[in-house]
Amino acid sequence: MHFLDIFTTKIKHVNLSDVFDNVHLARQCALLGSYDSSLVYYQGSLHYLKMLIDSKQFKNLSTAFDKIQLEVSQVRDIVDKLKQIKSPSQLTKINNGSCIRPRHASNSPVVKVSKLERPTIGIKQQHDKSIKSFVSKPKLQRIPSVSNNRQPKSESSKKFKSSIYGQELIDLLERDIVLRNPQIKWSEIAGCEQAKRVLKEAVVLPTILPDFFRGIRRPYRGLLMVGPPGTGKTMLAKAVASECKTTFFNVSSSSLTSKYHGESEKLVRLLFEMAHFYAPSTIFIDEIDSICSKRGSSNEHEASRRTKSEFLVQIEGVSTISDAKKLVMVIGATNFPWDLDDALKRRLEKRIYIPLPDCAARTELIEVNLKDVKLDNDVNLDELSEKLDGYSGADIAMVCRDASMMGLRRKIDGLSVEEIRTLPNDELNVPIRMKDFVDVLQKINPSVSKSDLSKYESWIKEFGSC
Ligand code: ATP
Repeated sequence: MHFLDIFTTKIKHVNLSDVFDNVHLARQCALLGSYDSSLVYYQGSLHYLKMLIDSKQFKNLSTAFDKIQLEVSQVRDIVDKLKQIKSPSQLTKINNGSCIRPRHASNSPVVKVSKLERPTIGIKQQHDKSIKSFVSKPKLQRIPSVSNNRQPKSESSKKFKSSIYGQELIDLLERDIVLRNPQIKWSEIAGCEQAKRVLKEAVVLPTILPDFFRGIRRPYRGLLMVGPPGTGKTMLAKAVASECKTTFFNVSSSSLTSKYHGESEKLVRLLFEMAHFYAPSTIFIDEIDSICSKRGSSNEHEASRRTKSEFLVQIEGVSTISDAKKLVMVIGATNFPWDLDDALKRRLEKRIYIPLPDCAARTELIEVNLKDVKLDNDVNLDELSEKLDGYSGADIAMVCRDASMMGLRRKIDGLSVEEIRTLPNDELNVPIRMKDFVDVLQKINPSVSKSDLSKYESWIKEFGSC
């Protein structure tokens, strides 16, 4: 059975078949070489799926989420590769088996050439003309570089090795969890001003002024971001890692529990060992409540109790390091702070609230999301921002994506795949009208309820520290 075939139930306003439709459309667009549209549909399906996962009514959705994310990263990889090929300034020298480097940037990441490397994607790439032409370019291929989330050659040669852990486990962690340069800038995150200030002070400054942050001013052991889903917590953590140029360990509870079933405790130890090895590092743990929920409940499994204890011990350990160059910072994020273990709360000394975007941030979000699409003259951003009151950043991204597809939907309605393929690009780029937004808003409701919001606010009032 296909993993999405289990979706038959409706949750709130999210219909599980919407996920299926979005994935289906995403794959079709990818097959047609419309990668941007494909990513739009993929993001839509992930968003819906996340809402279903957050509702905690289904158990097996995280596997589907991981699979879709894998497809997204494969499509992104292709987009990156095509960008490299299309940008002539990037390609100054093309030799057999040689290097490609931007002309005036001696420190720029080296682009290596390999005959064997081929872009891979879990869809039928033989239908894709762009990819065919890409593959047939003379030995021009992608290439580990900073812009591809890898480190420059000298640093990447520093490889973690251990005789205690199997190489397979180390490789898994390197591949799935380590992200060398997430490349998110503060300016890309709308609003969240207080969170940005706290993060800069708590994490960025100690790496810039290591001598100042000693003794009583020692860096915090960890930081907890609390708030509704889709408000930018992951983006904030990535911005910290980009700003400080730290190695970013992106850990989700599913990566610790499902993939490495039975080895979670060992993996936690390995995770922190690797973080120390590649320090300065940022360990970001999304859905930290799933790993560190309140201890002692009767249904608590022995293995998860041990994993949790290991986690607490390791977080305690990061505070004993006095050299800021060796700083390992733990940043947790949760949508369910009330489920957290008390000992963890104490260790994550800074606890900050990431709220829904205010009016100004919503306008910023609309602008960021629609920067590449045409707007009709009747679109009033202030009015739209008002209408989006109560929507999270992810909800707003979703509304903008759907609205940006409305013109295309009208255009291709009733056409065959062949007819769609031959449509000129400028005909597809139909301006979005205010009515498109109004129509979309009737279908997409805010994902966060008012009662959830008041729960966050009272928790942060009691336990917040910033
Ligand atoms: P969750 O709690 O569900 O893990 P999150 O709070 O970590 O969610 P992100 O993953 O950071 O949220 O954001 C999801 C998407 O929503 C982003 O990829 C981005 O498109 C959009 N987004 C959310 N908040 C912001 C923001 N403040 N600025 C810009 N984009 C945002």
